[in-house]
Amino acid sequence: GLILGIESSCDETAAAVVRAGSVVLSNVVASQMSLHANYGGVVPELASREHLRNIVPVVREAMAQAGVGFDDLDAVAVTEGPGLAGALLVGITYAKALAYGLGKPLIGVNHLEGHIHAVLMEARQRSEVAMELPLLALVVSGGHTHLYLAQQSEAGAWSYRNVGRTVDDAAGEAYDKVAKLLGLGYPGGPWLDALAGRGNPRAVTFNFAQIKPRPHREGISMPNKKAPVSTSRPGFDFSFSGIKTAVLRYVETHHMRQSVEARRRAIAVMGDAKPDIEAVGELCDAQTLDLIASFQYAVVGNLLRQSFAAAETFGARGVVVSGGVAANSELRRRFQAEADRRGLPIAFPSLALSTDNAAMIAAAAWPKFLAGDFASEDLAATPQLRLGQT
Ligand code: ATP
Ligand code: MG
Ligand code: FE
Repeated sequence: GLILGIESSCDETAAAVVRAGSVVLSNVVASQMSLHANYGGVVPELASREHLRNIVPVVREAMAQAGVGFDDLDAVAVTEGPGLAGALLVGITYAKALAYGLGKPLIGVNHLEGHIHAVLMEARQRSEVAMELPLLALVVSGGHTHLYLAQQSEAGAWSYRNVGRTVDDAAGEAYDKVAKLLGLGYPGGPWLDALAGRGNPRAVTFNFAQIKPRPHREGISMPNKKAPVSTSRPGFDFSFSGIKTAVLRYVETHHMRQSVEARRRAIAVMGDAKPDIEAVGELCDAQTLDLIASFQYAVVGNLLRQSFAAAETFGARGVVVSGGVAANSELRRRFQAEADRRGLPIAFPSLALSTDNAAMIAAAAWPKFLAGDFASEDLAATPQLRLGQT
């Protein structure tokens, strides 16, 4: 069972060949990170153009590294959503044409399901952690912060219940915005993660009680346009725009603006190379480092409380964390400790599979392949695609 996975939902063009949903023969990712870094975020038009440019060489490279030919494939799997419409369209159009030309089945995969299966695949390979069902899955990245209860039927089909989500910013987005307003580079997560260990996490208290999502009531519009979700149910929802505002307010009330600007200029001169943490640390005074440590402590604490409360409420027998923010060192440490304390198995992705990739798409496609759950030729890009029932 050889599946070629294709992923182009955001700013990574990726292709991978995976055998039977568990053996990664190749995993090629062309990242547009440095391109978008100039703009401090992903620019959709540029992303589509880059995907167009990259898709053919990336797929070719994945096939070559796997050492297989197109005729050896059993199916082609592609991300159908959620993501940027134009970006998704490149991968879908290519995958469709390829599957049609080869006479092989096409499988549509939800990107979020992919993130979950990246972890499950690696946990199976290591096989030291037996993940029992149902699982509580936290998908936490620059575009998503979701909690799912994942279950598998006798027949092998996976189903998901979306038991929590952010009502405004994603956690990774909060990292990126806070890094930016502290004069650090993009994406902000790795910078703040590396600097947080140098400050005092208890220096600044962020009160999540004040920034919890307000219950949605008829006739009262939500403060944030991006938040059309009802949060009237008792919740495992998240909100990260309040803490970003709190950091901004802290910077202003403590007159840190000038030092932020000085740091921004100094880092700009350093160029777009990987953050040299020693050098950047020198550019941060104790107050800034304390603020960073406190921000991270609060964000990770909030993710941790909501995740384990949901795990307990829904009787989850294991926890998986995935998405770009799963790379965070404090998150891994504290989630691992809490899971150990509760006697729950927990699994994280390797760094390579924590950010967007296509191996996870091929892995998530495998149970669908076994079930004959194929896409028709009118498979469409679905930017707002949801995973599971709420
Ligand atoms: P999507 O949301 O569709 O999965 P994305 O590109 O926004 O796509 P990823 O590529 O999975 O998300 O992850 C990128 C995000 O993860 C960025 O917001 C980045 O700041 C954050 N991130 C990466 N490393 C760390 C880290 N060590 N700590 C905290 N956040 C991190
Ligand atoms: Mg990305
Ligand atoms: Fe992703």
